[in-house]
Amino acid sequence: MLQAITLSGLSGSLIDIEVDVSNGLPSYSLLGLPDATLSEARERIRAAILNSGFSWPNKKLTVSLSPAWLPKSGSAFDLPIALAILTATSQIEAKCVKETLFIGELSLEGALRPIRGLLPMLIAASHHGFRSIIVPKDSYGEAKVLNQVNIYALPNLKAVISHLNGEERFENPTLLEVNESDRKKDFSEVAGQEEAKFALSVAAAGNHNILLIGAPGTGKTMLAERLPSILPPLTESEAIEVAGIHSIAGKLNPKEAVSYLPPFISPHHSTTIPALVGGGSNSIKPGACSLAHNGVLFIDEAPECSLGILDALRQPMESGEISITRANQSAIFPAKFILVLAANPCPCGKYSGRGRNCECSSHQIRRYLGRLSGPLLDRIDIRIKVEAPTRTELLADSAETSEMFQSRVLAARNIAAERFKDEDFNSNSQIPPSQLRTRYRAKREGMALINALLDSEAISARGYHRILRTAWSISDLTGTDSPDKTAIERALSLRVGLASE
Ligand SMILES: [Zn+2]
Repeated sequence: MLQAITLSGLSGSLIDIEVDVSNGLPSYSLLGLPDATLSEARERIRAAILNSGFSWPNKKLTVSLSPAWLPKSGSAFDLPIALAILTATSQIEAKCVKETLFIGELSLEGALRPIRGLLPMLIAASHHGFRSIIVPKDSYGEAKVLNQVNIYALPNLKAVISHLNGEERFENPTLLEVNESDRKKDFSEVAGQEEAKFALSVAAAGNHNILLIGAPGTGKTMLAERLPSILPPLTESEAIEVAGIHSIAGKLNPKEAVSYLPPFISPHHSTTIPALVGGGSNSIKPGACSLAHNGVLFIDEAPECSLGILDALRQPMESGEISITRANQSAIFPAKFILVLAANPCPCGKYSGRGRNCECSSHQIRRYLGRLSGPLLDRIDIRIKVEAPTRTELLADSAETSEMFQSRVLAARNIAAERFKDEDFNSNSQIPPSQLRTRYRAKREGMALINALLDSEAISARGYHRILRTAWSISDLTGTDSPDKTAIERALSLRVGLASE
């Protein structure tokens, strides 16, 4: 008997493959395969076996995958089913396939083709005790992530059988070293924008979501896409988790499977809810929210999103994961990210506060920014205006590098981690409102300032909490033990008013 792995979300379960050959009218049935891609497997496997020089039994052939109730999808079962048939018809010896896991789709010619979700399958296989796994040759980069398992990356069914019989040795492909720094975008490439860069480092220090408001061409995207470069690098297990999610989505480049740079995912404002949170008809795929897990989700021109799109972000922002249910299956994917939204100041984009070049009415402006719904804005602690850099800023050449920002962010996060070591949260953006008035108060003068603003209704109660949380991150960045008046003032400046409030 052979085994295969099926995925639900990121977790994998074992499937038993059994083949029965009996006398009777020649036929071929595959049981326990509800998914359409898998029914096509029947034809692929038959053609692959014949085209690899083996024979197809002229008998009644029944292949059963169990447990039957477990949803199975995808084409990863092609190779193990083909081997189970060859074993059952005595074309290869049963002992050859013992204790090895086989993963791969077969082409009609018998070539092994890469599949989606290989990495999480391998992780599951390793947990189930497999120490020898055969994968498609082109997936070797992705498979290599797991170093405690023997991986054999082979080109086709024939090669798999030669390998099992010990006839021929295939070398695993050599991988080119990928230099991550080539990919990394650096803050020093952005001229000026000191306030915006500071705001992003505050966001990075305390895991705050942030809204950037500015006319087209002021550099909102350039700034946002550099946020990953100042976040802490991913740990190995975080990087593997991220790679696993990208593998299931079919978005993993096998040549650089594991990256320690937090992901940056930027769905277009015309995106759909399934593309954003995950879904799909055959097998459930993770959406942009999960691809951004442990990194940054950036939506440019956020007010242009269709109705419901931004609201769909609330579930993952509250729980850090997304559960998706379809007719016969369900999956949970992690989705913890820093949300960066960008918006033009008005529908035409030219509004600058002085009204120059802009004919949008104040009503239109209010309606435009009003599309960023209240409940979502409640989860965005920081919002700043981004202006085009001045000529002096463009000519200045001593911009700080991402590394310099990152070292301050890391120091600030260490301070916060120490402070929160006995809490069930670990970042400033998660401090519960009740504790902001008790345990995590600002210093006396800071509290006096913010209480006065609340009393005069200059800020709302929710704004009050967000300002305090931001002030904690500013305080951590500057190394003070709790937010002083300056930190509160700074936090207030990172919270521009919106006409819609
Ligand atoms: Zn306008």
